[in-house]
Amino acid sequence: LEYKQQWRGGLLMKVNPQYTSQTCSECKHIAVDNRQTQSKFECVKCRYVANADFNAARNILAAGHAVLSAEGGCSKGRPLKQKTSDLREKVA
Ligand SMILES: [Zn+2]
Repeated sequence: LEYKQQWRGGLLMKVNPQYTSQTCSECKHIAVDNRQTQSKFECVKCRYVANADFNAARNILAAGHAVLSAEGGCSKGRPLKQKTSDLREKVA
């Protein structure tokens, strides 16, 4: 993930990425049980349900980390069509 690279790059960041995926972005309750599956987040305390990545992103943003907006721009601008056709040629 992009934000891990930024993190290593020396940006001041107090958030442990592991906790951001287990922390409820609504009530800030931290529990392993919040993370039901890889993709789904459900808070055991307030019953907030969200996509796990989305919830983690909200936690990071709440901690004052704004790199994620740049990350979103990257995935949008990716030339997916070209990469797909390259892959097909290799497979064939
Ligand atoms: Zn909660």
